[in-house]
Amino acid sequence: MDRRAFLKLSAAAALAGVGQHKALAKGLRVVVAGAGIVGVSIAYQLAKAGAVVTVIDKEGPATHASRGTFAWINATWAKQPRHYHRFSQDGLESWKTFQGALSLPIRWGGSLEWFDGEARQQRLVEQIAEQVAWGEPARMIDANEFKSLEPHVKIPEGLVAAYSPNDGAIDPVMATQKLLDAARALGATVVFPSALVGTSMVKGRLSSVQTSGGHIPADRLVLATGAEAQLPQQISGLEIPQRSTPGVIVITKPMPRLLNRIIVAPGVHIHQREDGRIVLGEQAGAPNTEAHAQRLRNRPNVFPDEAIAHQHGGRILASAFGFVPDIRRAEIESVYIGWRPLPLDGHPVLGANPEQPDVYLAIMHSGVSLAPIVGQLVAQELSGGVAIDQLAPYRPTRTFQRVERY
Ligand SMILES: Cc1cc2nc3c(=O)[nH]c(=O)nc-3n(C[C@H](O)[C@H](O)[C@H](O)COP(=O)(O)OP(=O)(O)OC[C@H]3O[C@@H](n4cnc5c(N)ncnc54)[C@H](O)[C@@H]3O)c2cc1C
Repeated sequence: MDRRAFLKLSAAAALAGVGQHKALAKGLRVVVAGAGIVGVSIAYQLAKAGAVVTVIDKEGPATHASRGTFAWINATWAKQPRHYHRFSQDGLESWKTFQGALSLPIRWGGSLEWFDGEARQQRLVEQIAEQVAWGEPARMIDANEFKSLEPHVKIPEGLVAAYSPNDGAIDPVMATQKLLDAARALGATVVFPSALVGTSMVKGRLSSVQTSGGHIPADRLVLATGAEAQLPQQISGLEIPQRSTPGVIVITKPMPRLLNRIIVAPGVHIHQREDGRIVLGEQAGAPNTEAHAQRLRNRPNVFPDEAIAHQHGGRILASAFGFVPDIRRAEIESVYIGWRPLPLDGHPVLGANPEQPDVYLAIMHSGVSLAPIVGQLVAQELSGGVAIDQLAPYRPTRTFQRVERY
């Protein structure tokens, strides 16, 4: 079946289930713990279906990974195997559906990616061929076409790069806020700072959620708490092994347009938002020094002071000078440290412990790409009580094996 036919069929199947799941959602009391982009997307869909939703966050909306993220919406070569690639493609399509309705700040236009070294470049060519076979409109382009797409980017003569025209990038903080506002407009209650500390059960079913501010009566709890490694086991009894790694994200003050697409160059990723701000993320991570290791021990989301933040920001900005010389004029506005919520096998965790069916886990990397499709499917599972086939590979009860794709 080709992709268009598949999408038509899944849209029809989703529509057939919508009426049923909306009827079941009415009055269902759901607490969503975690107001990152994943939690708020689930909260929005649940509120839309008629559930009584309370969103809590120990700090505030988009204060963790959903702020310190590069925010590239993609279904590129690293999204392996095919089911995960398709899930990511569906994430991308769902953003397109929601963008207009919620006025979301997304810039589409695609991504351009290349690597250092002949062997890695050859592998990229093979990976793009696989993408094409999977229905992705990606292709390799030469230096002339690259220059016509991105006149401000300096590339070596003879370069061949992967062009994935479907990709986009979002302002993740604004998107989180807009989804939260939309959930609130549909009746959701939002409470922060309020930390999830436990649950109360009656005969194996959830009766209330304990928070730092008191008890909230609830029928379901969604754990969308990102990189918090211990919480899933503490609350659901399931250990979700993660290899959460830190990344530094630099955001500049608004600049005249230099970039149209997401540039994934050796060592540094760059895109420019609709508002003119340039976002940079590094590929390898900060230098492995004792001072840095010390600083990261307590998993901070920001550097201890402006001077250190600017030192790291300057380092990442300098690595972009070679590709985008005009970025020299950029002024750094903010520097964040983001901790990737990254299950050991790189795939999302979506579902409940069968022993505790009312506690639903939603923990994932590439949560920016996946948030809208995850919101829709999780809301359907929670309120309809049916297991959605597409989520079968991502259950929290699977055996986790370490896989590093990026
Ligand atoms: C450097 C970096 C680059 C990335 N680049 C990309 C990219 O280009 N594309 C992409 O798709 N993804 C990317 N990701 C991944 C993506 O950002 C995350 O998958 C996504 O933001 C996860 O969202 P979340 O809502 O699950 O988690 P978070 O945004 O971390 O939110 C979890 C929330 O839970 C709250 N919380 C934690 N414990 C409790 C508690 N006990 N009680 C109440 N609240 C609690 C926290 O305060 C937090 O607000 C990147 C991540 C990083 C760090």
